[in-house]
Amino acid sequence: MSMTAITDESTDDVMPCPACGHLYTHHESTTVFVPDGGEDGPVRRVDVSIGGDTSIKSNSRDQSPSTRRDAVVLHFSCEGGCRFDLEFSQHKGQTFTSRTILQRGDDDLS
Ligand SMILES: [Zn+2]
Repeated sequence: MSMTAITDESTDDVMPCPACGHLYTHHESTTVFVPDGGEDGPVRRVDVSIGGDTSIKSNSRDQSPSTRRDAVVLHFSCEGGCRFDLEFSQHKGQTFTSRTILQRGDDDLS
């Protein structure tokens, strides 16, 4: 795993699609994984869509980017037809971000 530190306070960066580089992306929904009872314990999964639908599942570590602690996954689409996740997870006092490409669109330029 390579590690790159974010070292400034820039707030106006445009996040391109990690699959095709398209600059128009849309936040579709959010998933939060919350450990109930500490590390390695049961995990509550909360899914919230932008439309307002919410679901809560108990004891569900499925698809969590963290094997032991809490995590947040933001689900995106791009106008090129891709789908990807931006993930925040924690491990041993460090916070990690990663991007997972779920689907490449028809406008993939890579
Ligand atoms: Zn894309």
